[in-house]
Amino acid sequence: MNNPFQNALTQLNKVATVKNFGEKLFTELSQPDRDVRVSIPVSMDDGSLRIFEGYRVEYNNVLGPYKGGIRYHQDTEINEVKALAFWMTIKCAVAGIPMGGGKGGITVDPKSLSKAELEKLSRGWVKKLADILGPKKDVPAPDVNTTPEIMDWMSDEFEKITGDKTRATFTGKPIEKGGSEGRGPATGLGGFYVLNSLRAQLGLPEKCKVVVQGFGNVGLNAAEIFIAHGHSVIAISDSKGGVYNESGLDLEKLKEHKKSTGMLAGFPGSKDITNEELLETKCDLLIPAAFENQITEKNAEKISTKVILELANGPVTPEADDVLFEKGIAIIPDVLANSGGVTVSYFEWDQNLKGEHWTEKEVFDKLFKKMNDSAQETHKRGKEYSTDLRRGAFILALERIKEKMQF
Ligand code: NAD
Repeated sequence: MNNPFQNALTQLNKVATVKNFGEKLFTELSQPDRDVRVSIPVSMDDGSLRIFEGYRVEYNNVLGPYKGGIRYHQDTEINEVKALAFWMTIKCAVAGIPMGGGKGGITVDPKSLSKAELEKLSRGWVKKLADILGPKKDVPAPDVNTTPEIMDWMSDEFEKITGDKTRATFTGKPIEKGGSEGRGPATGLGGFYVLNSLRAQLGLPEKCKVVVQGFGNVGLNAAEIFIAHGHSVIAISDSKGGVYNESGLDLEKLKEHKKSTGMLAGFPGSKDITNEELLETKCDLLIPAAFENQITEKNAEKISTKVILELANGPVTPEADDVLFEKGIAIIPDVLANSGGVTVSYFEWDQNLKGEHWTEKEVFDKLFKKMNDSAQETHKRGKEYSTDLRRGAFILALERIKEKMQF
């Protein structure tokens, strides 16, 4: 089993082979500032009491308050949360926003809970962690299986406990509860802006054949945005498997199909495929948008795309990175590709603190500028150090972090 935190540290150490930042920076960044585990009691609908394990990892805050999502998943554990918090540190620095890195989670399959139980669990996470959270301390956001409604419960609980009325402690809230316009599609849209910025430099055609793994917030939004701009999505999947149509899938009809049958398989006019087959499908652009460790040394040889746009966090292991590099497949790394989410989260925090509400156009214009700048700065580092975009992005981030770090 791949340990995502070890993978994250391997990525960090690989940077040292192309640029020397000195021992101290690597030592400082190889552990989080704080990793907190809490037990959250929830009285269940049947009258029993269940204890859930929750986490918050505050990795590094030299650039600003800790920032990062909260994941609800049955496989979530501390090493995963530590890795995600580390990547947030790098990501915020790549994005050029005044935020540090953090991440949270609860080991739970949220689909197994009623809505009332889910609300108690979410409020319980805040009760246990309120002391370390706050607009200038630590600002959580949504991640896998956490929704604007959950963010609203959390924000409300935080206000009850602390009296803080800024609503700036949680981002990803519903718009009418202090959320930002554009937060929903932000990650997918940001990824699209990055791809557009680098498309010609990476030798991709104007209209790409795209394969997407994941049918959630990120995967679905990305698929819709790429189609709206003339690309075709030829395969897409969720946790149960995927569908393939060489001439492009009709997403509107596919969404209807999933709504009525509960799955993607069996979509008329398409072929059912497994997630393994999906990743190996021949295409111009492969977008992993589900989970970490999807492309490993086991399947890297079989990947048949020109470019990988990592919208999920950590979908490619360091061993697979090397294989793909040898095969000439370019990877636009997660810390750049999916930073649109945290960038709009930062915009939300900024609006809450200033008491402003920006239009969707303002948000997207600002997002476009940020993503374009970080894509080009990353590409520049890659060229300058004759290395890949992942190392290019890490170099950019470490330059910005080192400048503020005091040893
Ligand atoms: P989500 O819960 O909305 O969707 C996850 C999707 O992945 C679901 O469609 C699920 O069916 C699918 N899935 C689960 N296991 C799978 C498997 N083995 N194969 C194929 N599909 C599978 O989550 P999300 O918010 O879309 O997040 C997806 C990824 O993007 C995660 O890695 C997350 O950390 C990352 N990310 C999310 C955001 C954000 O703003 N939500 C920002 C940056 C990065």
